[in-house]
Amino acid sequence: MLSPLLLAAARSRRMRGLVTSIPLTRGVVDRFVAGDDLAGALHAVGELDAAGLRVTLDHLGEDTRDRAQATATRDAYLELFTAFADHGYAGGADASVKLSALGQALPGDLALDHAREICAAAGRVGMTVTLDMEDHTTVDSTLEILGKLRVDFPWVGVAIQSMLRRTEGDLKDLVGEGSRVRLVKGAYAEPASVAFQSKRDVDRAYVRALRTLMNGDGYPMVGSHDPRIIEIALSLAAGRSPSSYEFQMLYGIRTAEQRRLAEGHRMRVYVPYGADWYGYFMRRLAERPANLVFFLRSFTSR
Ligand code: FAD
Repeated sequence: MLSPLLLAAARSRRMRGLVTSIPLTRGVVDRFVAGDDLAGALHAVGELDAAGLRVTLDHLGEDTRDRAQATATRDAYLELFTAFADHGYAGGADASVKLSALGQALPGDLALDHAREICAAAGRVGMTVTLDMEDHTTVDSTLEILGKLRVDFPWVGVAIQSMLRRTEGDLKDLVGEGSRVRLVKGAYAEPASVAFQSKRDVDRAYVRALRTLMNGDGYPMVGSHDPRIIEIALSLAAGRSPSSYEFQMLYGIRTAEQRRLAEGHRMRVYVPYGADWYGYFMRRLAERPANLVFFLRSFTSR
């Protein structure tokens, strides 16, 4: 039962200090994170773009309680949009945003205001924005902010987690025309009162939600590396036009499959970058225990 321990560690300040202070960690982190800064992200995007893959960029960071930090995150996205426009990558690209990094936990409308500025700047260069979904305590607030943003920016998308029991109900409001929904299984440790606990139940819920999205009028984004899910998505999408849905995978995971799918379908890679990689990295370790072995081996092989 390593996953719950790793997910608990993802939230621990002590573990963060320990793991990020080990120089060797960096080599393993590089598999999942495109770089510490925008230059690293642009380099990765150049390679993905050349291979015909679309991108969504995530400036790493989460759970901010500091107003200045939240404003710095907003500024990082504004800088990203300018760089994308300058490099010719902006058209059709997307940015993934964690509202908790924009001040969601702080009083007032800080996260909404920052998200508005991010959406306005993205729209000006021809990019879209997708709100990541974080732990279950943030879902109501995230969907409320989504609704407000969509009044002015109807193309703003959101990630929805099949592991949450509430998802079937939430999707009823998210299947209308133009609604961009990235369906994922969910990466956070959640109690049984709100979330399915077994992989089987989460996968089944994923397929039910996928069916709802594919039968709706919105734009489903299939966020999964699971070969069975991809196969089912392909068959559910058979009656849809190829430009009315897309696949999405994370940077560094199943890269050959990303390129294979890109040959006949829209395929987008989620590219995280930035110095605050700890929480994101620990969730990737938790998803696959073999990653932890790889991580530990990097210490003994030197
Ligand atoms: P799984 O059953 O976990 O994995 C299927 C197979 O994929 C595995 O057997 C393995 O071969 C491969 N694989 C999966 N994960 C890894 C890994 N870490 N390392 C190596 N191989 C792996 N979660 C959220 O809670 N909120 C979000 O906003 C969010 N955004 C996401 C955006 C995108 C584009 C994607 C692809 C995922 C996102 N996730 C998000 C994470 C998601 O919830 C899952 O935790 C993650 O995708 C693993 O689930 P899976 O569907 O790939 O299936």
